[in-house]
Amino acid sequence: MLRFLAHRRTSTSRYMLASYSMAAVPKPLVKPDVYYTNLFINNEWHDAISGRTFPSVDPTNGEIIAHVAEGDKADVDIAVKAAREAFRLGSPWRCMDASKRGLLLNRLADLVERDRVYLASLETKDNGKPFAASYAVDLDEVIKVYRYFAGFADKWHGKTIPMDGNHFCYTRHEPVGVCGQIIPWNFPLVMQGWKLAPALATGNTVVMKVAEQTPLSALYVASLIKEAGFPPGVVNIITGYGPTAGAAVARHMDVNKVAFTGSTEVGHLIQQAAGETNLKRVTLELGGKSPSIVLADADLEHAVEQCHEALFFNMGQCCSAGSRTFVEETIYNEFLERTVEKAKLRKVGNPFELDTKHGPQIDKEQFDKILGYIKCSKTEGAKLMCGGERFGDKGFFIKPTVFADVQDNMKIAKEEVFGPVQPVFKFRNIKEVIERANNTRYGLAAGIFTKDLDKAMYFTQALQAGTVWVNTYNIVGCQTPFGGYKESGNGRELGEDGLKSYTEVKTVTIKIPQKNS
Ligand code: NAD
Ligand code: MN
Repeated sequence: MLRFLAHRRTSTSRYMLASYSMAAVPKPLVKPDVYYTNLFINNEWHDAISGRTFPSVDPTNGEIIAHVAEGDKADVDIAVKAAREAFRLGSPWRCMDASKRGLLLNRLADLVERDRVYLASLETKDNGKPFAASYAVDLDEVIKVYRYFAGFADKWHGKTIPMDGNHFCYTRHEPVGVCGQIIPWNFPLVMQGWKLAPALATGNTVVMKVAEQTPLSALYVASLIKEAGFPPGVVNIITGYGPTAGAAVARHMDVNKVAFTGSTEVGHLIQQAAGETNLKRVTLELGGKSPSIVLADADLEHAVEQCHEALFFNMGQCCSAGSRTFVEETIYNEFLERTVEKAKLRKVGNPFELDTKHGPQIDKEQFDKILGYIKCSKTEGAKLMCGGERFGDKGFFIKPTVFADVQDNMKIAKEEVFGPVQPVFKFRNIKEVIERANNTRYGLAAGIFTKDLDKAMYFTQALQAGTVWVNTYNIVGCQTPFGGYKESGNGRELGEDGLKSYTEVKTVTIKIPQKNS
């Protein structure tokens, strides 16, 4: 995902983080209080049954922010029971008018908006992302996604169908039931919103397992869910680890659907778990190795800037990151020079300072993994142009890194690095670059930069990706479907398409009597 810095226009588009007026970003709370650290089940706060906790860490210095309840299978069982009870026919939630569900989601959006500075600050503390981005990009998206799906609550309906024979036939869009939702750490609040909003708009109940690296903001939102007036058991939030709490959700026999965002590796496990248990519905939003392709006729300055943001936004921790920059031979040298210059200028440092563009990686594991990729790329013969090492002496900061002369068989050309490492490739012609761009197990997104409309159209058809951007990158709106081809996932989130996987279609066929008596 995400959006930022789309154009050099100076309008006040919400996508324009780089030119976002800093006056509009308020002062952060540098030490946001942590109010909630327990499991949220049935609108109440619970310790884990095991009594265990785990630390949530500040990635700028490795210090512990808070100890959080370590939920596991036993807690997931209780949460699923609560969600099942809330979904029971005749329950307050099942009897609620669809318009009222929409109202509750709008109230939730209002509460998030009320507490926007606090939430953005907490997100920055726990995740390390620059506060200006937390506030202007992430929270903007969160508020909008709750409102967008709120509007759908009483507008997502079936059809009457003129079927053969003397029948009255209509379809109902019914909620799937208890939805398990497992989310990652790169956009904690946004991922929570993307998943909760369509599930609740359509009347499901939820057991959400949040990422162990970033549990704090989701728990605060849980308190807002209660404050907004959602009945107990409709939303349950479990903090804990993937192989224990996450796997318990994926394997649960009484969970009707699981929606997962994270690594392709775990995505395989989730789908397998469904196959081995109750064939719960599965939607997956997984990794990528998305190409951004720059043709010789492109606006060079703009393409350089976009390809830079495509990769470095959120410290490279985006599923849709443009992590293969393909540049046409004739402009390669100049493009590279400007790209390196840009990477060197990207301001790394304290994410609470408003002009910081680049904070730390999420944790030691990712930090080590990325440095491993950098080392390996050097050994494989890629040319290190800048960065390539940690920044400072504490926390998990890595300098924006650019590699030139990257070959398709190198590891950074094939695997998801999920860090601030931009590999630049050279290509000669269109046929070649399309083949190379598509030659990957992934298919989440792609970007194409050209002034030639015919060429742009040709690329939009040829690229195997869930989203293709032309002369821009990472623009995602809650109105537009988002998801992957191939091993980048299954199903779509956001937009009208995002509702499909949260409803079952029931066909009702009624015999129309032939006589009046
Ligand atoms: P991950 O896939 O392990 O974690 C994502 C979520 O899944 C977390 O909530 C985690 O607790 C849970 N999880 C982990 N193992 C599980 C299991 N066996 N069963 C059920 N749930 C499980 O991702 P990670 O370890 O945090 O990061 C590893 C790599 O994944 C990254 O380097 C990156 O390439 C990719 N990633 C992608 C995204 C994305 O937005 N697509 C987000 C985070 C990470
Ligand atoms: Mn993992």
